[in-house]
Order: sequence, then structure tokens, then C-alpha cells
Amino acid sequence: MIGSIVISILLNAVLLEKYYIFKNKSILEGYALQINAEMDNGLKDLVPFIEELDRENAVAITVADESLIILASSYFPQKESNSVPKEIETMITSGITYGAIDKENAQPKLVYILKAGGKYIAVSKPLKGIAESVGISNQFYIIAGLFTLLVGSIFMFRFSGRVTKPIIEMGEIADDIANLNFERKVTVRSDDELGTLAKNINTTADKLKVSIEGLRKDIEFQKNLARNMSHELKTPIGVIKGYAEGIKYGVADTEESADSYCDIIVSECDRMNEMVTEMLDLSALEAKDRTLENVSTFELLSLILTLVERFDFIFKENKIAFSYECEKDLMITADYELLQRAVSNIVMNAVKYNDEHKAVILRALSEQGKVCISVFNTGIGIPDSQLDKIWDVFYKVDTARSRKMGGHGLGLAIVKSIVTLHHGTVTAQNTKDGIEFAISIPLPI
Ligand code: ADP
Repeated sequence: MIGSIVISILLNAVLLEKYYIFKNKSILEGYALQINAEMDNGLKDLVPFIEELDRENAVAITVADESLIILASSYFPQKESNSVPKEIETMITSGITYGAIDKENAQPKLVYILKAGGKYIAVSKPLKGIAESVGISNQFYIIAGLFTLLVGSIFMFRFSGRVTKPIIEMGEIADDIANLNFERKVTVRSDDELGTLAKNINTTADKLKVSIEGLRKDIEFQKNLARNMSHELKTPIGVIKGYAEGIKYGVADTEESADSYCDIIVSECDRMNEMVTEMLDLSALEAKDRTLENVSTFELLSLILTLVERFDFIFKENKIAFSYECEKDLMITADYELLQRAVSNIVMNAVKYNDEHKAVILRALSEQGKVCISVFNTGIGIPDSQLDKIWDVFYKVDTARSRKMGGHGLGLAIVKSIVTLHHGTVTAQNTKDGIEFAISIPLPI
């Protein structure tokens, strides 16, 4: 504001007079042409006409002949038969038609001279007023400027907070985001550009929060996995080492005991191999961009019958009373092999963790737009507090029993991954005399 006031004053002081002179040329020329026209129209007595013009427009008019003798004048007391004033004579002899004269004197003026029909018409106007006007208008500019400055400052003081407050808040929250602190949110106060910016900052913070939390979970998961895996491998490695040393140092002194030592080493190696294979399968299933490649629509009964056939020997060997139910013509869209593996893992657990009642029931039904495959087995079930955890990698309810059963705590994690890939859900529920696991997968649309 101060800058624009100073510029206005400077322009006023430097250019206003020049502009005034420039603008007046056409005005004075207009009067001269008007007088000339009157003369051409045969006006005999010019004096009343030019005196009228002088009175109305504050211009001094002198009409002279070619020898610069005044023919009529609106302001000379002698009026006629005198020579034009010196300065007008100088202008005429120098061929100047317009300009400011007598600038240094007390009465500077603007003069326009028109030569027409052997006569000179000189129209002049005092210039003194313009210098005063510049001074007055500059004074006015200063007063108006100070007033504007005062009012503007009060206004800015009152209202600038509305703009700066949200910007300061956004700056602080951007700092928080840079330090990975996503707790604070920018207040969205308006629907304008600032409001949009506030919304965008909040959305960015939300998205970053989700991504970073995801990354943290991933890292935590990987750490746990590495810890659990090392722990899982430690036992078989310890067993293998012990038996190998037994053979080396002659503890197994007969061929028979050496043989049995070797069998144990081989079985522990198989166990490790099995675990590593399952682990690799699981990480392939959990891969970020993993999608189902071999999806087909098939009758669920065919999958159930394949499982019945596969497990027939195991059921007989374990003296398990097995029965199954499958809804007729129940179609499902899924990866046949993967789904078979998921159900197999649950059925295998039903065999492993059964009790003396030895019963397993496999059911496949449709309900509310979903296919539900459930496996019930008699047994002590799982404490309710742990039902959620059994789907986690390497989680075992009873470590000793799982190991005895040849489990690694990966079977149900694999089930969950497969079902998740099919956009389904898994549940486990204790019942009166056992436990029921269920897989639920959306029916083909
Ligand atoms: P594992 O290879 O140890 O069987 P799972 O992931 O298949 O691993 O199962 C995780 C744990 O859940 C098992 O260690 C076991 O303690 C428990 N579990 C799974 N199925 C049953 C079941 N049918 N009855 C009782 N406990 C079960």
C-alpha cells in the first residue's frame, strides 16, 4: 500500500503537468478552429464572440493579422491596433504552434496558435494553477493514503488470520506427517482452495498411515516368521546332531541300534523338508500380487469324493468312523487343487486331534449365496480363547502333541491363505463333543 501511494505521488509530480499540457492542446485548438469558422462565416465584430469564449472557458484570445497587429483581443486593454505580445510573436516567428510560455514568470501560460487565411488566432490559458493542483492532489494522496493504510491495516489485522491460521495449521501438520505422526488432522473450514488443500493433506496422511502401518505389520510378520522358523528347525537339528554323534562315538554299538539311529535322523530330515516345503507354499500363497490362476466351475461332490477316496486308508488305519453329506448339484467356482488342499489339511487335523470316540463328519452345503464346507471331529477341541490364533503361522495349541502328530503349525495358516484368495472366510467352533472347522466361499454369480 505504501509503495502504491509513493508511486502515485511521484507520477503526479513528474507527469501530471506534462499530461495537462498534452491534453489541453486539443482543447485550445478547438477554440481556435471555432473562431476561425466564425470568421469564415463572415462574423464582422469578433470581440463580443471571443470575450464570451474567454468568460465561459477562462481562455485569453488574440486575433492578429499577418504583420502581427492585433485585430481583436479578449483581454488586451488596448485591444486593437497593437502588436501581439512579445512571447506570441516569438512563437509565431519560430514556427511554434503550441507550448508553455513564461514558465519562470509569475504568469506562465499555454498558448496555441492557429494560422488561417492570413490571420493568426492565439488561444492561451494560465498554467499557474496546474502546479498548485499537483501540490494539492499530492497532499490529498498522502491523506487518502494514510487513511487507506489505517483502514487497510485494521481490516488486514482482523481478517488475515482467517487465511494465515489454516496455513500455519497445515504447515504444522505437514511437519507432523514428515515425522510420521498422523494423529492430528487439518480442520476443513471452507469449500475453497484452502479447504481442498486441507482435505488433500488429510487424505494423504490417512493413506500414508495405512501404508506405513501395513509395512510395519509386514516387517513384524517377517521377524516373527524368521524367529519361529529358527525355533522350529532347532529341535530336529538338535535331534539329528545327537543321533549322529551317538553313531560317531559308538553309542549305537550294534548294527540294529545304528540302524534305528539312522531311521530317526532320516525321519527328522523328512520333517524338516516337509516344514520347509510347507513354508515355501505358504509364502507363495501369501505373495502380495498372488491371484488364482486355475479357477474353474465344478461340482463340489467330485472334490468331496476325491477326498473320501484319498483318506479312506487313513480313516481305516486310525479306526475313524467317517461320514459325509454333500448337497446335490452344488457348483462352486474355485481352484480345484488349492481347495482340495485346504479341506485335506482340516480333515488331516480331524484325524490327528481326534479322541477315543473317533468320528469325523464332512459336510458341503450352500447357504446365503455361499458354499460352506465343514469338518467336524470328536475330541477335546481348542480352548475358546485360542480359536482366533490357530490360523496364525506356527501357532500350536499343544506343542508337544502337535510335534508327536508331526505338525508344524502351518496347516491352518495355509487353509486361511487359500480361502482368503477365494474371498472366503474360515471359522472354528467348539461343539458339545468335539470341534467343527468351516470354510465359506461365495457361490458363482
Ligand atoms: P499342525 O501342523 O500343528 O497341526 P495346524 O496349523 O494345522 O498345525 O493347526 C494349528 C494348531 O491347531 C494345532 O497345533 C492344534 O493344536 C490345533 N488344532 C488344529 N486342528 C485341530 C482339531 N481338529 N482339534 C483340536 N486341535 C486342533
